[in-house]
Amino acid sequence: MVTIRQAVILAGGQGTRLRPITDTIPKPMIPLNQKPFLEYLLEMLRGNGITNVVLLLGYLPEKIMEYFGDGSRFGLSISYSVGAVSDETGTRIRNAANLLDSHFLLMYCDNYLPLDLKALVSFHDAHHTKATVTVYTNKDHATKNNMFVDDKGFVTIYDRSRKTPELNGVDVGFFILDTSILSRMPPKNFSFEDIILPRLIHERQLAGYCTDHKYYSVGSLERLPVTKRYLQPKKIIFLDRDGVINTKPPKAEYVKKWEEFVFLPGAIEALSLLTTHGYQIFLITNQAGIARGAMTEADLADIHTKMNAVLQKNGASITGIYYCPHGWDEHCDCRKPKPGMLFQAAREHLIDLTKTVFIGDDERDLQAGSQAGCTTLLATPDNTLLQVVRKLLESDGKTH
Ligand SMILES: [Mg+2]
Repeated sequence: MVTIRQAVILAGGQGTRLRPITDTIPKPMIPLNQKPFLEYLLEMLRGNGITNVVLLLGYLPEKIMEYFGDGSRFGLSISYSVGAVSDETGTRIRNAANLLDSHFLLMYCDNYLPLDLKALVSFHDAHHTKATVTVYTNKDHATKNNMFVDDKGFVTIYDRSRKTPELNGVDVGFFILDTSILSRMPPKNFSFEDIILPRLIHERQLAGYCTDHKYYSVGSLERLPVTKRYLQPKKIIFLDRDGVINTKPPKAEYVKKWEEFVFLPGAIEALSLLTTHGYQIFLITNQAGIARGAMTEADLADIHTKMNAVLQKNGASITGIYYCPHGWDEHCDCRKPKPGMLFQAAREHLIDLTKTVFIGDDERDLQAGSQAGCTTLLATPDNTLLQVVRKLLESDGKTH
């Protein structure tokens, strides 16, 4: 099992697409919510057990070095490799060879992704390759794909022109690399992406770790406002509906109309407590009664309108409701235990799922939540939503 303690970050570019900001500020130092973008990346890395970071610099390096220093202020050990502004990515990696662990995480300084390093490393181990790249599945067609990952998890096409029709994802960096690849690097100025990646793919030595977590970038001016909103700290809670806030109907039966909707004891109070404490609440609910013809989407909408009215009167508000109308045999992406609704909510509301809590009453809720990177909690008749919420708010009080 490979252990990764080191992250190596390519942060030497001039950020030409970010001019005029980058005339005086190097890209990693662009402030978002009063904090340099790179600081968010470092916090996320530390949360994943990274202890040592190598920054590969070129453009305005002193501005970065002054701010981050030896890293101790950020709970990390940071070292620097400074090259020429004109150095390409491969050259920067090669020139830092004496600083590198036998395996390390290679990243770009302009993409943020809520990384699960453990999952990435175990995927890498299972594929026995020299390298693994993280690939965004791009289900929302946020950008053009540039990679194809086959059904075994190997990258077979990398097309920087993004013209090949069958591509199925976009590379976001977050590579696991084995330093043995360094021995084959050319002595000239060269691009890691143009020289090393095609070679690895040709030898079937590049695994592709696919993720539904959307990435946010400071690669261009127009992306900055969205990335800023994404990185803004938020308090988010996801709740299952039946069995968590209202009584659960018997198996294969459904809450088909408002008269059948009965709040569980303490549920309204729990929701109003969350609202008072600044949480945005989202419901994530399977409603297969629609697929089975027991009710219509309009029936469901009517229930939710009336539910929201009661909650509103009690000082509680729900920001969004996501429901899966499909049956189990429709093989959709959204029916729990699949995490599709969580990823959809995350994209639509700029949520980092790894900083959220999902409370459900069913094993399928916990599975969906943990697949999406949420902290999951179980509500039961003995440990009701209100009790779970009180404990949560208590622990919030301790950490803030
Ligand atoms: Mg339930």
